[in-house]
Amino acid sequence: MKTKNYKIWFCTGSQDLYGDECLRKVAEHSQKIVEELNKTGKLPFELVFKPVLIDQASIRKTLNDANNDPEVAGVVTWMHTFSPAKMWIIGLQEYKKPLCHLHTQFNEEIPYDTIDMDFMNENQSAHGDREYGHIVSRMGIERKVIVGHWSDPEVVSELADWMTTALGVMESSHIRVARFGDNMNNVAVTEGDKVEAQIKFGWEIDHYNVNDLVKIVDAVSESDVNALTDEYYSKYKILLEGRDADEFRRHVSEQARIEIGLEKFLTENDYHAVVTHFGMLGGLKQLPGLAIQRLMEKGYGFGAEGDWKTAALVRLMKIMTEGKKDAKGVSFMEDYTYNLVKGKEGILQAHMLEVCPTIADGDISIKVQPLSMGNREDPARLVFTAKEGAGIACSLVDLGNRFRLIINAVDVKKTEKPMPKLPVATAFWTPQPDLKVGAAAWILAGGAHHTSFTYDLSVQQMVDWADAMGIESVVIDNNTNIRDFKNELRWNSVSYR
Ligand code: MN
Repeated sequence: MKTKNYKIWFCTGSQDLYGDECLRKVAEHSQKIVEELNKTGKLPFELVFKPVLIDQASIRKTLNDANNDPEVAGVVTWMHTFSPAKMWIIGLQEYKKPLCHLHTQFNEEIPYDTIDMDFMNENQSAHGDREYGHIVSRMGIERKVIVGHWSDPEVVSELADWMTTALGVMESSHIRVARFGDNMNNVAVTEGDKVEAQIKFGWEIDHYNVNDLVKIVDAVSESDVNALTDEYYSKYKILLEGRDADEFRRHVSEQARIEIGLEKFLTENDYHAVVTHFGMLGGLKQLPGLAIQRLMEKGYGFGAEGDWKTAALVRLMKIMTEGKKDAKGVSFMEDYTYNLVKGKEGILQAHMLEVCPTIADGDISIKVQPLSMGNREDPARLVFTAKEGAGIACSLVDLGNRFRLIINAVDVKKTEKPMPKLPVATAFWTPQPDLKVGAAAWILAGGAHHTSFTYDLSVQQMVDWADAMGIESVVIDNNTNIRDFKNELRWNSVSYR
């Protein structure tokens, strides 16, 4: 999960019209804002004050320095005074990283008793930020605009969220997906243009013969397998359910062997996400279940049945939520079956095996059960139910001429009753605004049955990420109604072709 020690630069715009005294104060104020924002402890990484920009040369140099410094994840801009925007054109043209426009002001309240023209000239972001905003819009440059006093907790939280989005934009181009098997036979929605994905997102998606993995898995030592199996037995509840204890352990240890071998393969070859295919397992004795669940928990992306788009998206969400305080988890997920009882509507989420334990609530158990598909040994898997709370389910689809990211706000709940015979980890959620509209909108948008799910990112963060990557996104939440949603899809089809 290691990423760079990222920083965000804070760049204040002004000009030399106001004299040294004014520029000194502009710098002082900016430094103070940066200090106080860092002190909140709410920002995911450090904000760094940069010397005030007063002409084309300093703007161009600073923005190019930001491009060239691998630790800079983005730039926040703010015009304390007026800053004629023609000075910004060349710098902005050359700037390549995420951009945020913090439309703030040093003072919160108008100083009614003392305000004079000197004060107005020094504190005119209401004026200067509009000039700057105009040129960014005219140049068609994507950026986040955040409005409000810098001490407002809502502003701090919006800035923190954007910084995480900037991290997602920067790290996207480091995602590498190893595919063991192509997408599942005849499945449409897991297909996609891998070249276009590399152009748009920077993802490297490579194919391997599963037997390249099998060689490494078979070479894992018995003592390593035993040690990891012991760890499983100490960490998880063992649910024999009538199976022979030795035979059960042998099945579980096969997943330990796969976990060690697969992680070795991914580490040695620098991959951060993986896809499997239950019909193309080569010499593997079991479909990787528990092994994949454990790797997802460690931060790897995963997509089943060859679904590399979801694997990369899971990895992206893992990166964006890494280290987040009180994080509740990220998982690969699949819409499986409905509860359509009025007032209790929801979608049971699961997969054949591969749900990430980071979303688990309470005990995690191991079961060994047959798969109803494929021709391998009964695989061991971790079984649990998911935490309650608000989350987002995302699906990235390839529409032939473009990618569309579908983002659905969902409310995760407990099922009314336990499901003792179901041998997989599950979540149960009601899509916003309700199942009837949410599922209709999802289907109209062409969303997949596979999703990348998390509690720890907001709808807005994923919208901002899609905007920064230059792709279409559509949101399904409490504001969605089908008539408007269909119009949005129609208009987008013109806008994004
Ligand atoms: Mn599936």
